[in-house]
Amino acid sequence: MKAIRFHDYGGPEVYRLEEVPVPEIQPDQVLIRVEAAGVNYIDIYQRQGLYKMPLPFGPGIEGAGVLAKAGAQTGFKEGTRVAWTQHPGAYAEFAAVPAWKVVVLPDGVDSRSAAAALAQGITAQYLCESTYPAQRDDIALVHAGAGGVGLLLIQLLKQKGATVYTTVSTPEKAALAREAGADETILYTQTDFAEAVKQFTQGKGVHVVYDSVGLTTYEGSLNVLRPLGMLVLFGQSSGAVPPIDPLVLSQKGSLYLTRPSLAHYVGDPASFSHRATKVLNWVAQKTLQLRIGRIYPLAKVVEAHRDLESRKTIGKLVVEIS
Ligand code: NDP
Repeated sequence: MKAIRFHDYGGPEVYRLEEVPVPEIQPDQVLIRVEAAGVNYIDIYQRQGLYKMPLPFGPGIEGAGVLAKAGAQTGFKEGTRVAWTQHPGAYAEFAAVPAWKVVVLPDGVDSRSAAAALAQGITAQYLCESTYPAQRDDIALVHAGAGGVGLLLIQLLKQKGATVYTTVSTPEKAALAREAGADETILYTQTDFAEAVKQFTQGKGVHVVYDSVGLTTYEGSLNVLRPLGMLVLFGQSSGAVPPIDPLVLSQKGSLYLTRPSLAHYVGDPASFSHRATKVLNWVAQKTLQLRIGRIYPLAKVVEAHRDLESRKTIGKLVVEIS
């Protein structure tokens, strides 16, 4: 089968399209014929060696397709349409995945949509329903609001009745974030977002900041929180955040700081199944609108990664395999 792999850490050019054997499955695994895979920032961290992976490594942490073989202990049936996340090897024609990380697709959700929705949808879901359960009358700031997670998170926060401010780098991205429901958009490459948020809130600040940008935003994020507010630092698209002195949290208003990871919110079968089913049902019911920015063939994964890193993309990038 064809699969993307890398043998050394580095830029997108380390990805190679190779011919490798179809993976063998264990009794608790299923073999999926992959139709679509989602492109995620974590792929970049793994490729760069920020997260160390065993080399050579087959990247891609989510995908969707048709079940080609079911291990004896799984209870799955061949031919079932499924999706998975939190297991590598999605940038390939086949993937062997532990059955507990696999979810059956509801009617009306195709592989492309499932691959676009699962990891980022579950992320948006846990951020606003578990990490900081947002409520009516909360005011939230979402950074990178036209990104994959950003567009989904804005929609969910609005459905909960929160007021949502968001930062983006271009007027085109601002228009998309508004379409998703954002009440105010801030071009944080041109404007001091902390000042803008203070003006919107008459100096009071926001209840929560969902910050995936990291290095260039975390200080401003701490500064725009009202007392007892929470900084949910869930990514580092602009670079790693340096250590933070806990006393700073006290000085700025007894703030809460958390650095959540999707892996821990879907770390057991019940949590994964609950969150994945919820998100895919939202997609099926059109409660959650997906925005697929671009679709790439397997041979063009390098280009997908260059685009994501260059900050040009909107919404979700998907790789279509068969
Ligand atoms: P996005 O589609 O949001 O892409 C990243 C965006 O970050 C860019 O489009 C850009 O938006 C913004 N950005 C700001 N500064 C930079 C920079 N220097 N270089 C590149 N981009 C920059 O990606 P995803 O939706 O896939 O992921 C968003 C973030 O969420 C990532 O950091 C990812 O690691 C994190 N994440 C965390 C999870 C968790 O559980 N902790 C799970 C899933 C994702 P703009 O141009 O508007 O500034």
